[in-house]
Amino acid sequence: MKNPLFIYNTLHRKKEQFIPLNPPFVGLYSCGPTVYGDAHLGHARQAITFDVLFRYLQYLGYKVRYVRNITDVGHLENDADEGEDKIQKKARLEDLEPMEVVQHYMNAYHHNMSQLNVLPPSIEPRASGHIIEQQLLVKKILENGYAYINNGSVYFDVLKYNKKYPYGILSGRKPEDLLSNTRSLDGQTEKKNPLDFALWKKADPAHIMKWPSDWSEGYPGWHLECSAMSTKYLGQPFDIHGGGMDLLFPHHECEIAQSVAGYGNEPVKYWMHNNLITINGQKMGRSLGNFITLDQLFSGDHELLQQAYSPAVVRFFILQAHYRSTLDFSNEALISSEKGLQRLLSAWVLLKTIKPSVPGDFNVEELEEKCAGAMNDDLNTSLLIGHLFEAVKFVNTIVAGSASVSEDQLDRLKKLFDDYAGKILGLEIPEVAAAGQEKSSELIDLLLKVRTEAKAKKDWETSDKIRDALQELGVVIKDRKDGVDWEWK
Ligand code: ZN
Repeated sequence: MKNPLFIYNTLHRKKEQFIPLNPPFVGLYSCGPTVYGDAHLGHARQAITFDVLFRYLQYLGYKVRYVRNITDVGHLENDADEGEDKIQKKARLEDLEPMEVVQHYMNAYHHNMSQLNVLPPSIEPRASGHIIEQQLLVKKILENGYAYINNGSVYFDVLKYNKKYPYGILSGRKPEDLLSNTRSLDGQTEKKNPLDFALWKKADPAHIMKWPSDWSEGYPGWHLECSAMSTKYLGQPFDIHGGGMDLLFPHHECEIAQSVAGYGNEPVKYWMHNNLITINGQKMGRSLGNFITLDQLFSGDHELLQQAYSPAVVRFFILQAHYRSTLDFSNEALISSEKGLQRLLSAWVLLKTIKPSVPGDFNVEELEEKCAGAMNDDLNTSLLIGHLFEAVKFVNTIVAGSASVSEDQLDRLKKLFDDYAGKILGLEIPEVAAAGQEKSSELIDLLLKVRTEAKAKKDWETSDKIRDALQELGVVIKDRKDGVDWEWK
């Protein structure tokens, strides 16, 4: 295969050629949001990273089933096994039914994703809709001897598992090191060992979201849903599992352990993780006062923001960094992204008005290869955007009249923008501007036709009037022997 796709596999800590398990089908799973609050930049970066992967795999001709879940139950505070359910807490504070909280923030998340031009996944399963599947996996793990029941709750036995299978293969952490960094268990816990994690938790009487089970009336542990739902919709094993780096440990590490303990095999061939976003060099956190939601970013309504940034600018800002690099938010960086995006989009619009000329002194082939090379090198959107700016320069040179382009090359250049900026990066020419440019091109062509007819009838007055009016609008007319050409000044 010419120019194959390489992706960085976190599991093996290196770039590997992507070879699907069952071509042309590709199974892709990425952990979706826990819907108890407004989406922020971190959500945007993860969603956009895997949106670009989803788009690119389809562009390469694969049939992709993309599953992105909604966590609507079981995610406890501080990602721990103790504490209140994040959604239930929000419901209690706002005097709502937990499913009202879920519905509200899920709708808001979908709205934000559509603003960012993130494609909807093929399947969006919810944890609360897959309680039976999760219970069946708990039963399997219990049957295989890698879990134990204590007081109605079920815990995964990490040390027992680690005797047969290595625990920590994804994060590179070893149980003995983890243990030495963990506080010893206080008398309250039901766990045998601090590394053990909950598969099923018995609900206390005040708990609202709970279901009957063989062990107790309770609810599933947070890590369980992704194992159960990815298996249900993508099979075992499947191709790619993605998520933010903050999910790598313990969430994804626990997913691997659950699947190996329950089904006997590693669930995923390629694990991919996007890096996190910092704000002015600092970690983002609600307690640090630098927590900016997407709605605030789009409206400019936050004290750290100098202005509002459109969803397209935020998307472009995220794509300007490679997904595995850190990305620091600052007003300067966003403003520079805004300018960059404007330059790219106006070249894309102008490209539609360029007329080819023979023979043309611009060759698009090298650029096509560079763009494909950037995407195939672990989705290097940062490098790709750099190459697109080379194309922007060419477009501007042609528009300025210092270079020409043949019809064939012009078509390829248009396709390059439509494919890489449009289909793959998910950027769009704002509709009004695009329609405006195309409509005005049609109008100019029509006026020139009228002028040619006038000239044929030796109606010089009309013909000159049209020429002058167009010139005033910035249209330069070039009369040729076999017709007439025009371009923007
Ligand atoms: Zn997950």
